[in-house]
Amino acid sequence: MRNRGSACRFLLAANPMAAWFSKKPKILQTDPNEADLKPGSRMEGLWVKCDNCGEILYRADLEKMLNVCPACAHHMALPARSRLAALVDPGTFEEHDTALEPQDPLGFQDSKKYRDRLKSTRKNLGEADAFVSGVGKLDGQTVSVGCFVFEFMGGSMGSVVGEKVTRVFERAYELECPAIVFHASGGARMQEGIFSLMQMAKTSAAISRFREVKKPYISVMLHPTTGGVAASFAWLGDVIIAEPKALIGFAGPRVIEQTIRQKLPEGFQRSEFLLDHGMIDAIIPRKELRGKLSQIIGLMA
Ligand SMILES: [Zn+2]
Repeated sequence: MRNRGSACRFLLAANPMAAWFSKKPKILQTDPNEADLKPGSRMEGLWVKCDNCGEILYRADLEKMLNVCPACAHHMALPARSRLAALVDPGTFEEHDTALEPQDPLGFQDSKKYRDRLKSTRKNLGEADAFVSGVGKLDGQTVSVGCFVFEFMGGSMGSVVGEKVTRVFERAYELECPAIVFHASGGARMQEGIFSLMQMAKTSAAISRFREVKKPYISVMLHPTTGGVAASFAWLGDVIIAEPKALIGFAGPRVIEQTIRQKLPEGFQRSEFLLDHGMIDAIIPRKELRGKLSQIIGLMA
């Protein structure tokens, strides 16, 4: 034992690096191109792959750019709260109607009970329903704002979403301030049947009353704005703005193609197509949106 101990000491003394070299180095996976971006992997969450150009992007950098790809300018989804935070002056957003929670008036069930679907979505997202609304200041000017949460059941509009949208206009009416709504929705929430369709009339009536105060309602259409939302308050804006390449329309292109049995033109129902055909007023890239909205409000309010 004594001999082996002294031999080891001798080896270490002769070559102090031997212990280091004999250790297999642990290679830290830092090359994002090599990283496994599959859900649940170690690198997931740190890097994001652009859906459009395939560029691998560092999430923190991407968030600073409001989820717009620096390589191809593709506008990825931006969470509602990040969007509202980026719009209003820091610390001025005051959320309203947080107590409103959806019910299941029809006891609806498809592959899953609507009640259970609501519960699990609420738990996963931490949102009560598909709309966040409140009052904030935009360059010092009070605005009543709301934004769809597309991740919540495709931003579908049930009674609660409809009520929250209505209250955006009611608050704007009371405060005599402009209203801004960001739309991203698949349309009416089928699980609430007629109750969800009634929201189209209710919200439109609220806009009609809001017109009395002669303040602008700016509708910002995000990707995608479709169905009953597009067919009611989204198109009723005094100024209608869209983000680049957003899908905007009532029925989806596939449904239309099947109905009319014709091939639709290239880019049909995209922001650029709608602008060319006079359906919207402007396409504004996300990073310019705040400044442009402030400018529009300054001119109109
Ligand atoms: Zn890209």
